[in-house]
Amino acid sequence: MTRTHDFVGIGLGPFNLGLACLTEPLRESGELDGVFLEARDRFAWHPGMLLDDATLQVPFLADLVTMADPTSRWSFLNYLKESGHLYPFYIRESFYPLRREYDDYCRWAAERLPSIRFGRRVERVEHDGAAYVVTTSRGEVFRARRLVVGIGTSPRVPECLRPLLDAAPGDRPAVALHSADYLAHRERLQRLGSVTVVGSGQSAAEVYHDLLAASPDHGYRLTWLTRSPRFFPMEYTKLTLEMTSPEYGAYHRRLPLETRERLAREQRHLYKGISGDLVDAISDLHYRLRVSGDGPRTTLVTNTSVVGGRWDGSAYDLDLHHDETGEAFGLRTEGLVLATGYAPTVPAFLEPVRTRIRHDPRGRYDVAADYSVDLAGGEVFVQNAEEHTHSLLAPDLGMGAYRNSVIIAAMTGREVYPVEKRIAVQTFGVPEHLRRTDPAVVGR
Ligand SMILES: Cc1cc2nc3c(=O)[nH]c(=O)nc-3n(C[C@H](O)[C@H](O)[C@H](O)COP(=O)(O)OP(=O)(O)OC[C@H]3O[C@@H](n4cnc5c(N)ncnc54)[C@H](O)[C@@H]3O)c2cc1C
Repeated sequence: MTRTHDFVGIGLGPFNLGLACLTEPLRESGELDGVFLEARDRFAWHPGMLLDDATLQVPFLADLVTMADPTSRWSFLNYLKESGHLYPFYIRESFYPLRREYDDYCRWAAERLPSIRFGRRVERVEHDGAAYVVTTSRGEVFRARRLVVGIGTSPRVPECLRPLLDAAPGDRPAVALHSADYLAHRERLQRLGSVTVVGSGQSAAEVYHDLLAASPDHGYRLTWLTRSPRFFPMEYTKLTLEMTSPEYGAYHRRLPLETRERLAREQRHLYKGISGDLVDAISDLHYRLRVSGDGPRTTLVTNTSVVGGRWDGSAYDLDLHHDETGEAFGLRTEGLVLATGYAPTVPAFLEPVRTRIRHDPRGRYDVAADYSVDLAGGEVFVQNAEEHTHSLLAPDLGMGAYRNSVIIAAMTGREVYPVEKRIAVQTFGVPEHLRRTDPAVVGR
């Protein structure tokens, strides 16, 4: 009989890797036995965007474990110590690790955890009445009482442009890609006569900056298109950062669906913008190139939606709409980088157990306070798939350890790692002490 694990973790991005680190002491003590199944052959964090000087957007304390257990052997500081980088990091005096460094840190942790199985894509999940039965791409079967689904988000591609990405570039001189695959195609893009970046977030800005810096050596025409009214910076002020807190997540989850959806549109600048430093670095680079006489052949346009596109045999012909002037216009480009973000999906492998999962009216997971999504409660948990319920906390590395502490408490029935109830100075919603209960004055 196949062994029944206490849980199977599906996918090994930073969030389930953090869970593997935090549950390792429980696995060693025999309290909680989990196994993690990852499709890739080794840990790799956004390999297409590991640009040399890119850093994390959150401080190093947002590592896999520290916010839950500062004494953990899996901390970023311990990785620095073991890899001999602690003093250089100390001298560097920056809270923000390089993205490459974070990727290496996660691999350092993953390679030391016996609970991880690489090269296993989960293809099917069933329930045999007693446990979940997970089948992998190798035909192996894992049984477990619970699941933790941490498969991350998938590149979002505008429907009207999907055919351009699906077409195999083959011997085409041109290339269209999502920013998730940027580094794999960087050199090819630089050999083209024209490149266009579409998007308003950090990835779009990083790709544009990278191509702009190389443009004097290659001479391509570089265009940056965004639907946003401006190239807006991410907001980092401290009282706003307090919204990345357990109590804001709990408050947001209690709001009506329509209100949450309105907030998702209105809160874009909180976590979908560009770091202020990078916005300025792009402007400064323009100035330097202009002074050095290498004024780049580049165009930056806001308020512009890409409404269609086709391959015309030698380039991509894009249909554009200016959302303020109402004008329709177009652009031909040989290279196209869609930095159009990522979206969570309900994976097909869960279809056989669909009836055990709670869904909201939009077909998304209906996520409970403890991140479980199953009708029974406490059987199927999700990581980074709850932005529509818990808001901007979902993809934030700084909240990964907190979410894992909640999930571990739900699986063990005890608070193995303290779960903070309140961290913000402000109150979200009506403060209890100001709530009016006397019907005579309510609503006055
Ligand atoms: C370029 C980039 C930079 C970012 N930088 C930051 C930052 O600095 N700070 C921050 O707070 N957030 C950042 N984010 C947001 C977020 O933290 C990251 O996206 C993070 O990687 C999400 O982690 P995850 O564990 O949800 O999933 P992912 O990292 O997406 O990992 C999911 C894993 O699941 C595996 N998988 C998928 N399907 C299956 C399957 N069927 N079977 C088995 N395995 C499967 C995949 O191979 C993958 O390894 C960044 C996002 C991007 C794209």
